[in-house]
Amino acid sequence: MSNVSLRNVRKTYPGGFEAIKGIDFEIPDGQFCVLVGPSGCGKSTLLRMVAGLETVTSGEIDIGGRVVNEVEPADRDIAMVFQNYALYPHMTVYNNMAYGLRNRGMPKPEIDTRVREAAQILEITTMLDRKPRQLSGGQRQRVAMGRAIVRQPKVFLFDEPLSNLDAKLRVAMRVEIRKLQRRLKTTSIYVTHDQLEAMTLADILVVMNGGQVEQIGNPLEIYRKPATTFVASFIGAPPMNLIPLDGGEIAAQFAGDSRSVAAAGVLGVRPEDLLISTDATATGGIALDLTVEAIERVGPETFVYGSREGAHGVSVNPGELPPGEVIVRIPGQIAPAIGERIRAIAPRDKLHLFSADGRARIDI
Ligand code: ATP
Repeated sequence: MSNVSLRNVRKTYPGGFEAIKGIDFEIPDGQFCVLVGPSGCGKSTLLRMVAGLETVTSGEIDIGGRVVNEVEPADRDIAMVFQNYALYPHMTVYNNMAYGLRNRGMPKPEIDTRVREAAQILEITTMLDRKPRQLSGGQRQRVAMGRAIVRQPKVFLFDEPLSNLDAKLRVAMRVEIRKLQRRLKTTSIYVTHDQLEAMTLADILVVMNGGQVEQIGNPLEIYRKPATTFVASFIGAPPMNLIPLDGGEIAAQFAGDSRSVAAAGVLGVRPEDLLISTDATATGGIALDLTVEAIERVGPETFVYGSREGAHGVSVNPGELPPGEVIVRIPGQIAPAIGERIRAIAPRDKLHLFSADGRARIDI
């Protein structure tokens, strides 16, 4: 069994900065866990602690039923894939993949079998005699993965492995990594700041913020029920619209259910859950009167940016929309004109309510 458990893990860097403030979670054997969060939230620190490249200040890291806090990286039975590939430039692809196994004194025939098997899985068999400089970025990344695969580790650790690739290749490699992990069934931890990558790869998604876990769970469940406004605006692009309920006109539309609204300070609605209504008197769960400020046509859908009159509030989270701005996501390319007044409505079951400080979700 290669489950990974983190128990009240903390990291304080020399100098006193607390980068990880007590993290607890468990990754069951064979699952793909993605750590996602903005720059500086501590995701690389946490991954490096699992790898043994950073010391653990307090708490326990357990891999396959063994606490590894004091175990050397080489003895943890993990393999890491980095963003910069970290290939040896003077060695062939074959030797790059074989190097770690030779160092461990593995017999030559077994090394050969493992390298050739990995090369076949990754479709780089024809490149085994080349040097890294003779490969494209995507091919180098495959070699880096090959080097991890041949180890047959208990756990794969990925640190933003696709960041150096162009957008198209990123998508292609993302799909390949997921297929590969399903095939090998190796427990994996993957760090990224890209929420789309996180959503599509994860069995278990861990959203981090300021050295803590903001929410953990199944990606779609997190998308449907974000626990905080931070998660609501971080997961999903364009982000969820967050509207302060300051007792004004928006709050008044909730008059029928005063209990939950009384406790709430922020209303959330995803751009795709808003519909543009031509009926000026239409109301759903919520009705927002907007002036169209900008239109973005991306092909299959169109983003309409509107402003609410008299809206105010303070955006605090990265990726959050400016106060008063609302995005409506509509299919196709037909859009209202700039300057037009529109009414965007959403049914009640598509609305999200949060406490005024954004730290708690309130069930409607
Ligand atoms: P990014 O996506 O930018 O890599 P991250 O979420 O991976 O960000 P970390 O690299 O884990 O973030 O860093 C977390 C915090 O710890 C940051 O505020 C960073 O400045 C700090 N930090 C990282 N390494 C050290 C160090 N060696 N000494 C002191 N502080 C550090």
